[in-house]
Amino acid sequence: MGDTIFSKIIKREIPADIVYETDDILAFRDIRPQAPVHILIIPKIEIPKITDIDGNKHAQLLGKLFDAANMLAKEMKIDEDGFRLVLNCGNNGGQDVYHLHMHLLGGRQMKWPPG
Ligand code: 5GP
Repeated sequence: MGDTIFSKIIKREIPADIVYETDDILAFRDIRPQAPVHILIIPKIEIPKITDIDGNKHAQLLGKLFDAANMLAKEMKIDEDGFRLVLNCGNNGGQDVYHLHMHLLGGRQMKWPPG
C-alpha cells in the first residue's frame, strides 16, 4: 500500500474521525470541512485518481462508494435538502491527495459554478 495520508488513516497510523467502515470502504470527516457535513469516502484499495479507474474491474467498488454516500447522507440528515458529491482529479481538478476519494458535502446551499 502506498504512503498517502489516506493509506495511513486506513492503517490507523494517523487518527481520523471515522464514521463508517466496511472491508472495502472507509469514511471519515474531512480535517478542513467546507460545509457543516464534509465526509471523505474512500476505497481501501489504492486507486490514485479517477483516470486509474477500470470500469469492469472497479464497478462493484464504485457502487459501494455511492451506496455509502447515500447511507451517510441519510444518517447525517442531508438527504432531503440535498448534498454534493465531488471527486477531484489531477492538478487542474484540485486534487491534493492521490488516493481516490469522494467528498460528501452538505448542510448548506451549494453554489454553481464551483470555484
Ligand atoms: P482533494 O483536494 O485531494 O480532493 O481532497 C483532499 C481532502 O483531504 C481535503 O479536503 C483535505 O482537507 C483532506 N485532508 C487532507 N489531509 C487530511 C487528514 O490528515 N485527515 C483528514 N481527515 N482529512 C485530510
